[in-house]
Amino acid sequence: MVDEEVIKEERELPLLPRRDAVVFPHLVTQLVVTRQSSIRAIEEAIAHDDVIVVVARRDLEAGKLTFDHLYSIGTAAFIGHHLKMPDGSITLWIHGQRRVRLAELIHDEPFFKAKVVPIEESTQKPIHIVALMRAVLALFEKCTTLSSQIPDDAYIAAMNIEEPGWLADFVASSLELELPERQEILETLDTHERLLRVSILLAQELDVLELQSKIHTQVQEEVDKSQREYFLREQLRAIQKELGNIDPLMREINELKEKIASVGMPEAVMNKANEEVERLAMMPPASPEVSVIRTYLDWLTTLPWSKETEDNLDIKQAARVLDENHYGLTKIKERVLEYMAVRKLAQGKLRSPILCFVGAPGTGKTSIGKAIAQALGRKFVRISLGGIRDEAEIRGHRRTYVGALPGRIIQTMRTAGTINPLFMMDEIDKVGMDFRGDPSSALLEVLDPEQNHSFSDHYLDVPYNLSKVMFITTANVLDPILPALRDRMEVIEFPGYTEEEKLGIAEQFLVPKQLSEHGLSEEQLRFSTGALRRIIREYTREAGVRNLEREIGNICRKVARLIAEGETPPHLVTSLSLTKYLGPQKFFWGTAEERDEVGVAMGVARTEMGGDILGVEVTLMEGKGNLTLTGQLGEVMRESAQAALSYARSKSATFGLDPKLFEKTDIHIHVPAGAIPKDGPSAGITIATALISALVQQPVHKEVAMTGEITLRGRVLPVGGLKEKVLAAHRAGIKTFVMPKKNEKDLGDIPANVRRELTFVYVQGMDEVLNTALIDKREPRRQL
Ligand code: ADP
Repeated sequence: MVDEEVIKEERELPLLPRRDAVVFPHLVTQLVVTRQSSIRAIEEAIAHDDVIVVVARRDLEAGKLTFDHLYSIGTAAFIGHHLKMPDGSITLWIHGQRRVRLAELIHDEPFFKAKVVPIEESTQKPIHIVALMRAVLALFEKCTTLSSQIPDDAYIAAMNIEEPGWLADFVASSLELELPERQEILETLDTHERLLRVSILLAQELDVLELQSKIHTQVQEEVDKSQREYFLREQLRAIQKELGNIDPLMREINELKEKIASVGMPEAVMNKANEEVERLAMMPPASPEVSVIRTYLDWLTTLPWSKETEDNLDIKQAARVLDENHYGLTKIKERVLEYMAVRKLAQGKLRSPILCFVGAPGTGKTSIGKAIAQALGRKFVRISLGGIRDEAEIRGHRRTYVGALPGRIIQTMRTAGTINPLFMMDEIDKVGMDFRGDPSSALLEVLDPEQNHSFSDHYLDVPYNLSKVMFITTANVLDPILPALRDRMEVIEFPGYTEEEKLGIAEQFLVPKQLSEHGLSEEQLRFSTGALRRIIREYTREAGVRNLEREIGNICRKVARLIAEGETPPHLVTSLSLTKYLGPQKFFWGTAEERDEVGVAMGVARTEMGGDILGVEVTLMEGKGNLTLTGQLGEVMRESAQAALSYARSKSATFGLDPKLFEKTDIHIHVPAGAIPKDGPSAGITIATALISALVQQPVHKEVAMTGEITLRGRVLPVGGLKEKVLAAHRAGIKTFVMPKKNEKDLGDIPANVRRELTFVYVQGMDEVLNTALIDKREPRRQL
């Protein structure tokens, strides 16, 4: 029926406007027509067994269709098979015949009718057209193999088309193109041009298809691989089940799930844990991640999340426990009992305050912490913060690091096994800071009751509640602790023990403890009070009782050996037999200096070990007025020495000194015990006393010790650490203690026996110091 003869010349024909299709000559297209006017046009064409002109709509948005909305080139076509549908629409097959140009509208009611002019098409095939046709065919072949949309036999059909324009039309109609693109092909009347356009479209389509196919292949490969593994694993499991042994991975996963459900995790943590279990189940067993997940789950399931011990708030019983374990320390015990009482009344609503025990080693900080835990019925755990410089030590490393672990806090909580242990952090004054981050910021979070209910550990990755933990920190000295940390804590000072207290501790606690540790009974070994006193005085010099305990332990060990070697008990260690066990005495008790000397004065300093006496020596030599300072003195202490010298010079007349003396004398001030760095202003009056003693050639009383800062005009200013200093002076056998008047209030806590044995002289000015310290018995002046 295809016949170009149908319209050879200008004719008037009904139009079929389409918004969805461009019909090409020679090709059959299926259409569904619903518009009433179009149905009328079709009926007209069928009635006359004539062609109809299918033409596309240009403007899809426009409301009422007018002649202007139509493209000017359409296709005259026969109507083939057609079906009337129940809803009034018509489905029909259209056979395109030839391109026509719309010349003039005849009428638009009841249907469009227009005057149309046929368009001649060239069927010439010069060589460049043939080449183009081949190129189009080659591209089209590729497209058909790649695309699922183009039917396979389309290529065969295309191969058999002889006419170039027809081929272009055919290929364009097979591709998925937008309506304007199709119309453009229809309107390209030059065959060479048309073929060229089609080949460009084909190349674009081919690009898309190739990319699509690549993606598809990749996806398919992935899916295949994981499916294969999944099936193999499932098969393996099934086989193992058949053989009677349960898949170990399955068993592990089931166990993990049970554990997760049973340890009382918060919901968020439980979800996280279950997620990880799912990941574990999906993972090939050989994957290195498996062990990472396993370790992580192990941490999650072994940490305490809700297990808690009940606090024993029976105050009387607690008091008994504390007394049973410790001699003295009355104030500290009282504070602990108060804390328990408040807790009892507040019924758990009270947030645990953070206590900070400050004192020298061996003053009982750790052991009273243990006793508190015992009295409360809590677990006791401790870590040492000394030397920690890396935040990751507190907070852990992220799991992405190889071998990552939680930080010390979480590790220790696992050891505790409950969420409310008594957690002791030792040496909080020795926390460092460097490029790896500041551990104190992590500590601030741990010790802040507002934040520590959701402590974040990098490894754990889920918040951990530390709010029920009772934290106690310890430090040797208060000063190095960050102020922000210090503010969060209630400081309780352990000033150190007097000789009497040490004796009590030794008799009641240390001796029995060491005996039992060495498997000895009281019948086998006893210590006389005299022996213990001598150990305290001559074998130890400390604020606490650590060395005392060690020396007692030494004796026990030696006696145990003797007994094992067959000697007969009882052994009584007396002050006389002591050297037999401990060797010669280590410290000289009593007066720190043997004689009253010129140019030597005794000061007291607070050290990490509590307090200690500190001699200051001054020597004068002929010279040019230079001042030399030795003995590892800090900046502040050097300035004190300068101030003392200036004071002495300004008062030279009062002391009856020749003002020229300073110009021809070199002064050397030395503070022995060289290895210990010394600093602070509190040696001021000691240096001044030694200096003036040397200048005026009057000796200093050997039993006088002093502390106080000096001003240029000789006023004495108050200093810190008085309790430790008084105890140290007492330990060293000092009789008279010179101290600033303003510090008098600090003596409240000094034990009565120490107060009795020491004479305190409260001074405001240097003259009072010299009055007490110098012995006014002029020795013959040495030649300077
Ligand atoms: P610190 O933690 O302050 O360095 P420790 O608590 O380790 O000191 O004490 C050292 C030793 O001294 C322990 O064996 C402890 O039992 C004992 N000790 C200290 N003070 C007392 C005391 N007041 N009563 C009984 N024993 C004490």
